[in-house]
Amino acid sequence: MNNQHSKIRSGDIIPLPAFRDNYIWLLRHGRFAAVVDPGDATVVETALQQQGLQLCAILVTHHHNDHIGGVAELAARHRPQVLGPAGEDIPAITRHVREGDEIVLDELDQRFTVLEIPGHTRTHVAYLAPGVLFPGDTLFSAGCGRLLGGTSGQMYASLQRMAQLPDDTGVYCAHEYTLANLAFSRAAEPMNAARDARQAECEALRREGRPTLPSSIGREKQINPFLRTDVAGLVDAVTAHSGSRPPGPRECFAALRAWKDVF
Ligand SMILES: [Zn+2]
Repeated sequence: MNNQHSKIRSGDIIPLPAFRDNYIWLLRHGRFAAVVDPGDATVVETALQQQGLQLCAILVTHHHNDHIGGVAELAARHRPQVLGPAGEDIPAITRHVREGDEIVLDELDQRFTVLEIPGHTRTHVAYLAPGVLFPGDTLFSAGCGRLLGGTSGQMYASLQRMAQLPDDTGVYCAHEYTLANLAFSRAAEPMNAARDARQAECEALRREGRPTLPSSIGREKQINPFLRTDVAGLVDAVTAHSGSRPPGPRECFAALRAWKDVF
């Protein structure tokens, strides 16, 4: 087995916009491709045909329909490996993945490690390669997923795990939610110069119709309120909003998530 997998070049990870604000991420290497969370088969099929690519693998982070809606059709047509978490109704899975599993995609010359990151759902996973993280709907730029199956304690722990990754790890989120998240972040942490600078950049990108992604772990630690629940200015804003001071960052996270739900 060849263990000398090349680092994925960021230019070989392509966002395919789908629905209103999803991104299906396509990885390519030579004439081979993999996709992450293909909610729409047609979007993927068009990209494969335009770029002359053969689909070898589908990586699924969680079972929500906007992430799996195209899996059955793509699997029937291309017979790729289909990887996803156990315990949910995901079609055409060829391998259920668990914490620490190594995923070798020989055609793409890539190796991923599976992280179990419950919170958005009970069984959500992320796929990590050197310098590249696909966090699904768990970590967004300047935000995090809603709790639609997991607990706030699980989500807090999952986000803290991702914050431990190297700063230069690219974060390839599954939705273009950045500007809305930044608007909430202004309420949750009024004084944050890095956030203000990033907001100006993202507004310019969106005016040009370009994605604000990928982000990076280093950037998210500077601008994402859900990774900053130990910062005094943010704790003060949560205290003012909720009426009581959270005793620690975990409780601050829970109050912040509840606040965002109604923002
Ligand atoms: Zn979801």
